[in-house]
Amino acid sequence: MRVLLASPYEIGRQPLALAHPAAILRQAGHHVHCVDLSLGTLPWDDLAEFDIIALSVVMHTATRIAARLLPRIREKAPRAHLVCYGLYGPAHASILTGLGANTVLGPDCEGSLLDLADGREDKPPANAPARVRFVVPDRRGLPDLGRYAHLIGPDGGKKTVAFAETTRGCKHLCRHCPVVPIYRGRFRALPRDVVLDDISQQIEQGATHVSFGDPDFLNGPAQALRITEALHERWPHVTFDATIKVSHICEHPEIIRTLAKRGCVMITSAVESFEDAVLANLDKGHTAADIYTASAIVRAAGVSLMPTFVPFTPWTTLDGYRQLLQSIQDLDWVDAVAPIQLAIRLLVPAGSYLLDLPGFRDELGPFAAERFGFPWAHRDTRVDALQEAVQQRVEVAEERKEGRRETFGALWDLAHAACNLPAPVLVQSAGVTAVFRLSEPWYCCAEPTTTQLAVADAST
Ligand code: SF4
Repeated sequence: MRVLLASPYEIGRQPLALAHPAAILRQAGHHVHCVDLSLGTLPWDDLAEFDIIALSVVMHTATRIAARLLPRIREKAPRAHLVCYGLYGPAHASILTGLGANTVLGPDCEGSLLDLADGREDKPPANAPARVRFVVPDRRGLPDLGRYAHLIGPDGGKKTVAFAETTRGCKHLCRHCPVVPIYRGRFRALPRDVVLDDISQQIEQGATHVSFGDPDFLNGPAQALRITEALHERWPHVTFDATIKVSHICEHPEIIRTLAKRGCVMITSAVESFEDAVLANLDKGHTAADIYTASAIVRAAGVSLMPTFVPFTPWTTLDGYRQLLQSIQDLDWVDAVAPIQLAIRLLVPAGSYLLDLPGFRDELGPFAAERFGFPWAHRDTRVDALQEAVQQRVEVAEERKEGRRETFGALWDLAHAACNLPAPVLVQSAGVTAVFRLSEPWYCCAEPTTTQLAVADAST
């Protein structure tokens, strides 16, 4: 079979969502063509030649872009079997089917894709996580690693980044998280030789840093420790980063120190909010005090912390937002926070565990298929006005390629103006530390920008 796998967006990484199914399908003898739409376009003139066209919907932005592409793909390739697959698939299957998809699959769908390609279509599609035969991802045909997001060091130096995952799923049940309705508190470890062989092939292509994309690197500390031990032994010059939740950092300070000795230079952590009431509603498993503890542990280990936030929720107050900026300033995090993180508005996709929160459903409007989520308006219209102003200012900053400190200052002024308070002059702390960061800001749970959605239009 001729199979086209396409990824609309994977936050600046060479898409594993293409490379792993490509390996399984090619090993079975299928002809696979991979397209990363963040760096290329669909072969529109040849689309009708493919038997299966599969779009990865691994995150919200990718799903929004896929939705714009589906009707045009269906028109150009009327006989092809159209598939959407990934984390956002199952909850939105009826929408994607309505737009032209024949089959919608969840993550861990490699076996179902192979069934389709082998002609075993009578098997029911696996919309729940299935056992996957993990093989080394096949990255042939994807753009060079050098074209993807790179690591920027405190001195401005750049490193080519490999992307790997050592586990899938997550053992936690944070209410707002899209991983939860699919994995329901389960995770599984990938075979270590597969992970290391994939890292090896990316190092051969020039990578000197590995970005581990596990939902949480310390869901299985033994797996993280064994992989990083082998990584450091074989490639002592290679650095890495990982995502680790606040509570895991607080529980395992010794592991954070060990990871630092093995080359960990950056940890992404979902801080979300400094308000305990909001953290409780999100069921994050940490408190505002824990955030300060985690920051101290990571800083003492000599590692950069990249915090992520959900600053605008139905429970956010104007003063709470102002205090969030104050906390970021107090923690010397201004350089560490990607500005889009300060604009993110809580997403409520179909199937979200937030819908189980007593009374929360009443805060929401009817499900909006075109946005893949339940809209909500804040009871205090000034909070929504501030969110819109922050979002617009951040998009301007992105276009101007403005420095993070300048953008933070503008948001600081907006937040204080919203509270009818004079904005104190921002003073850079003497103890401020330069940080490592990835060149692509973290957009996985943010609404796509107009520029990102334009990928779909540019692909015609
Ligand atoms: S937010 Fe992170 S820790 Fe919480 S369920 Fe999602 S992946 Fe797991």
